[in-house]
Amino acid sequence: MQANAFHKMLLLLPLAFYQSTNGMEWNYLKNGKDWEDLCSTGKHQSPILLDTKTAHKLVSPPITFWNYYKLLKRPFYIRNNGHSISLDIPVTSNGRKPFITGGRLKGRYFADGLHFHWGSYKSPGSEHWINKRRYDAEIHIVHRNEKYKNIAEAVRHKDGLAVVAIMVSIVRKDNAKSTPLSKLMEAVVRVPIENSNATLFGQSSLDQLIGGVKHKDFFTYEGSLTTPLCDETVSWIVFTEITTVTISSVSKFWLLRDHWGNRLINNYRIVQGLNDRTVFYRTARSSKS
Ligand SMILES: [Zn+2]
Repeated sequence: MQANAFHKMLLLLPLAFYQSTNGMEWNYLKNGKDWEDLCSTGKHQSPILLDTKTAHKLVSPPITFWNYYKLLKRPFYIRNNGHSISLDIPVTSNGRKPFITGGRLKGRYFADGLHFHWGSYKSPGSEHWINKRRYDAEIHIVHRNEKYKNIAEAVRHKDGLAVVAIMVSIVRKDNAKSTPLSKLMEAVVRVPIENSNATLFGQSSLDQLIGGVKHKDFFTYEGSLTTPLCDETVSWIVFTEITTVTISSVSKFWLLRDHWGNRLINNYRIVQGLNDRTVFYRTARSSKS
């Protein structure tokens, strides 16, 4: 029996090796420049440079947050997936799923997951740039069109996903301490290595987790996921109001480890070409609300 088990192990070894070297695993060492074999090569990729001066002015309703202000059901589960820290968004304490409408979206998009992109102690690490500036970190809330039953199905359709992006800036102010967002960020010390999980018992609404940013002013454009397989099925909504945290919160991310045990830092993809796309910029002033 033991010999048999040993032979099975030998048979499995080449498969494991094949998977780790043939594109099943990827990393941020080149910030996505080496993802050609993994990513679709379309012309509508993300992230991109955003500029309030050159964007096309959009007159539209604001993004409306539904159930974003209600407390979420406890507890929260966070995970180090080797590429980021992700949080599965639970229903609210009265059993409702947060969702968004408005902007250029047609229909309702349900909030599914939240994750972060960050830099290192040397440099900032947001994915999108606003007015020639890269921010310290970026929060993504991935929403799926209610037409599709899960993310896997939504990702196969052009109108499948809407990702809300919020820029994070490091400040010295004490009022950025002990917020639900800073508590979530500091909790990442509990998921230091790939596939580690932690349960958080604090209470928060989804709006509090993104620092309560106003959602009347935003960029919106059609793009892709910024991680393999980079599917071009994302309506991006990037808010121009920045959320703030202290360095003690952001610096917790710089200690995390990836799949190979290397530091999980600078987990952003380099900016992609705009090509034939239009970036829209919506403000409360231009839309009168
Ligand atoms: Zn992301």
